Amino acid sequence: MVRLVLVGPPGAGKGTQAAVLSEQLSVPHISSGDLFRYHIGNNTPLGEEARRYLDAGELVPDEITNEMVLERLAEPDAAEGFLLDGFPRNTSQADVLARSLAEKGTELTAVLEFDVPEEELVKRLLGRGRADDTEDVIRRRLQVYGSETAPLLDYYRDKLIRIDAVGSVEDITERALKALRAPA
Ligand code: AMP
Repeated sequence: MVRLVLVGPPGAGKGTQAAVLSEQLSVPHISSGDLFRYHIGNNTPLGEEARRYLDAGELVPDEITNEMVLERLAEPDAAEGFLLDGFPRNTSQADVLARSLAEKGTELTAVLEFDVPEEELVKRLLGRGRADDTEDVIRRRLQVYGSETAPLLDYYRDKLIRIDAVGSVEDITERALKALRAPA
């Protein structure tokens, strides 16, 4: 049973790897970005509230985000492990997650950091064509990553496994699985 968090800048390929790894490891892939996009697509009240933050490349406020993700983690399929993609995005979300797991007598197994040089990120993001992938929004998301999310790397230093995330999808998956098999 594994409880994983994937961390990495936008464009690092987290979503792609999360989908493959969740299948290989037989745990649900829980993406906070996908959950927000689901709510926005379905015009739910949460979606109405989150939309402007996604459009601007800003983080959705913690109270909204934490509640949405903790509810998802409370579903039965996540009891046997999970792979979180895009959450936590700052240390206060990480604290909320840690407390919630501690209440259930568990903790994270490991945190995988997907490491990609910045020039490569911008190139990838501009080629992706998602609605929030305009150049200004991309730049803002990269800034937000640096200021809000990068501190998680230190927060999680005891659980952190860094993966070189440049290469083919298969190679990167292989690196991640190999790293997970080896003790951190
Ligand atoms: P992603 O799909 O992970 O790139 O996330 C897309 C957008 O969703 C981000 O730019 C944020 O606006 C929002 N978002 C996703 N996850 C979080 C989170 N953990 N905290 C706050 N906002 C988030």
